[in-house]
Amino acid sequence: MKKNWDVVILGGGFAGLTCARRLEKLWGKASAQRILLVSAENFFVFQPFLPEVIGASIEPRHVTNPIRIVLRHCALMRAEVSKIHLDNRRVEFDVTDGPEIEPVDANHLVLALGTSTNLRAVPGMMEHALFLKTLADALALREHIVRRLEEASLEPNPQHRKRLLHFVIVGGGYSGVETAGEILDLLLTARRFYRNLDASDLQVTLIHSGPHLLPELGEDLGCFTQRTLEKRGMVVLVNQRVTSVSSDYIRLKDGMRLDAQNVVCTIGNAPNPVLSDLEAEYEKGKLLTDAWLRVSGYENVWAIGDGAANPDGYGHRCPPTAQFATPLGKQAADNIAATFTHASLRPFRFKMLGQMATIGHHKGVCSILGFRFSGLFAWWLTRTIHLLKLPGLDRKLRVVIDWTFELFFPPDLNYWDLRKTQKLARIHIEPYDVVFHQGERSNGFYIVEDGVLEVTRRDGDGHVLWKDELVQGDHFGEGALLYGLARRVTVTAKTQATLLVFASKEFKFFVDLFKSLRQLLSSTATRGPLEEFLRPSTWSEELLHAPVTDLMDVSPVSISGSATIAEAIQKLTESHQNVLVVVDDDGKLTGLLTETDLFRSAAKQQKFSGILKDNVSQEVISLQSSQLIHEALQVFYMKGVKKAPVLDEQGRPVGTLSYLDLARARIQRVPPTRT
Ligand SMILES: Cc1cc2nc3c(=O)[nH]c(=O)nc-3n(C[C@H](O)[C@H](O)[C@H](O)COP(=O)(O)OP(=O)(O)OC[C@H]3O[C@@H](n4cnc5c(N)ncnc54)[C@H](O)[C@@H]3O)c2cc1C
Repeated sequence: MKKNWDVVILGGGFAGLTCARRLEKLWGKASAQRILLVSAENFFVFQPFLPEVIGASIEPRHVTNPIRIVLRHCALMRAEVSKIHLDNRRVEFDVTDGPEIEPVDANHLVLALGTSTNLRAVPGMMEHALFLKTLADALALREHIVRRLEEASLEPNPQHRKRLLHFVIVGGGYSGVETAGEILDLLLTARRFYRNLDASDLQVTLIHSGPHLLPELGEDLGCFTQRTLEKRGMVVLVNQRVTSVSSDYIRLKDGMRLDAQNVVCTIGNAPNPVLSDLEAEYEKGKLLTDAWLRVSGYENVWAIGDGAANPDGYGHRCPPTAQFATPLGKQAADNIAATFTHASLRPFRFKMLGQMATIGHHKGVCSILGFRFSGLFAWWLTRTIHLLKLPGLDRKLRVVIDWTFELFFPPDLNYWDLRKTQKLARIHIEPYDVVFHQGERSNGFYIVEDGVLEVTRRDGDGHVLWKDELVQGDHFGEGALLYGLARRVTVTAKTQATLLVFASKEFKFFVDLFKSLRQLLSSTATRGPLEEFLRPSTWSEELLHAPVTDLMDVSPVSISGSATIAEAIQKLTESHQNVLVVVDDDGKLTGLLTETDLFRSAAKQQKFSGILKDNVSQEVISLQSSQLIHEALQVFYMKGVKKAPVLDEQGRPVGTLSYLDLARARIQRVPPTRT
């Protein structure tokens, strides 16, 4: 894969894909060498059809389109972006579970990564609710509904049955209303095939925080929607908010408790994590752009779609809809192409044409060019307009066929319990096969199911420093994953062996959740070389179990993050230290400033008036005042640091501990004998 591109587009959604298609049209076959589109999936998802995937009106595959087919010439990279450098337009990739991918550089960088979901503000929502943002979410929700129907059909207790079949949808916007309508349709149609279930067993509740549903369509259509849904048996709660979610019930803002084992959340759009921490201006968490769609302050960086705050040309910001993301993609492409021909750029200007939603049972609501209407025609028009916007003739035909089938045949009630067919990754290895080499990137955690393996650690000259054997039931690989390090050892099979493998993502998810397992694995992570290093005969038990506060230097030299580099130099000189602890206004640690940081920032800026917090090492390895010396040694050893600030419970520095302090104490307690 080439490293330098004229244009790198991040995101294969409405905005990114449209931008790439438009540039392809302008540049033709030359696009293959000039444009790279990067997306986490190799397919485009037509999100407006996701509710119909849940309702089983459309086959999941038919709402997607492979990007390689949609784009005729551009290069495509299926990869997850992990870091973006705006100043030199460099993009780095997440390679945790895949092959190594070199960063790429762009003359023009287009940020079209959309948004993510975050509902940390509502306790329990992230843990217990189902979401509707991706195709996987829609599939999971459809599977969940059919699973509940199966479970309820076996449940003799009517109260329990009702609980299993109560679906609560949070959010009365487009996706909330469409999803609620589709779920109700699916439940009512499916009930015919679960003969022991009664209509009174089913319930769908829609909760909305505003006074009427679909606020974008106005009060009339919002109230019409509510009446239509209520007539069909849905419970609609307006002016309500969910304040917490558990596995069995939700709590509402007025304190009411509602039994709810199936919560579907359609609210809580949050900035995409990759876009949320850039050196740029933000508005409500979105990247602010100028009228030409460039990220404020950057000539050749463009941001479009849901993840950006783009002016609509009429004094407002563009709403997060596909209707806007598509023309934004086109305009960004035109402006990028114009920069290559030195033509003038055009500001973005687009007015909403209309808004529409389907609400189930062949009914819809529309507001187009000032006309508002509802019913069967609105439903037909909404579907038809979405169909026309779906890219690809083959996909359009498939969706029409799905809809036709839906008219004459029952919905697809297959329940694929994917967990049953999912295999735990298991690998078989032969004698002398290497599982991984010392120094390699970490990509998994292993348990030995059978066989014998050898673990070896070597120094830079290849001399063996330490060796051990692993047998059935032993595990390895956790250290590199827990501490984000390269492999510290090489593992080779001595006999034929079978290993269970956990990919790094699953491993991290599991240990983050399961605290005792994390503690256990943190201690085993340092076995072997560190055990040698920490042998009580060399360190003494008493010293190893003393608190870090006993040996730390209690006068850390701290400085406020708002001080200048010049002030930091003065402080360093006066204190005769080589590290300053940088704190915020509450005295909490925000970074460390070393002589190297100072040198780097002075070399970059050639001036000393810069603000300190922009120049410090943000990723600080610190210790807690409650930790013991052997834990501090473990941190020094695993992270490869020689000194760390010690923090109190509020995160304020109370001292610094260096390896030198520990070595000095060790010599005092166990004096070395001359050899
Ligand atoms: C259920 C639902 C129904 C909707 N209905 C309508 C409707 O009826 N009408 C309407 O106008 N709008 C509708 N919308 C909104 C519309 O889908 C969005 O506004 C639109 O998708 C935004 O386009 P985008 O390109 O900004 O983001 P997206 O379409 O979300 O695309 C983001 C892209 O970035 C990729 N990506 C994200 N993170 C990374 C990463 N780290 N590395 C690599 N790639 C990454 C994703 O894979 C994706 O390809 C609906 C949305 C939903 C969820």
